[in-house]
Amino acid sequence: MTDCNDTLRELQTFLDREMSETARSVIHSHLEGCPDCLEAFDFHAELRVVIAAKCRNDEMPESLLAKIKQCFGEDPEVEVSTH
Ligand SMILES: [Zn+2]
Repeated sequence: MTDCNDTLRELQTFLDREMSETARSVIHSHLEGCPDCLEAFDFHAELRVVIAAKCRNDEMPESLLAKIKQCFGEDPEVEVSTH
């Protein structure tokens, strides 16, 4: 049985694909019943795409940029370019 805190704590591991199949299926079943966690996982998955794109100097979709800025605000740990 997992709750939201457990699930979110496993988020990075899940995205890094360093998780066993069993653990992944536990996360999946939680996400199916929990829109809040699903949204958080979706967001972080998208964020990774953005960071990867930024490293290659690709253009980011405006909608995604806006979403990230909205979530992180002035968080100094995450630099979001507006160019
Ligand atoms: Zn949850």
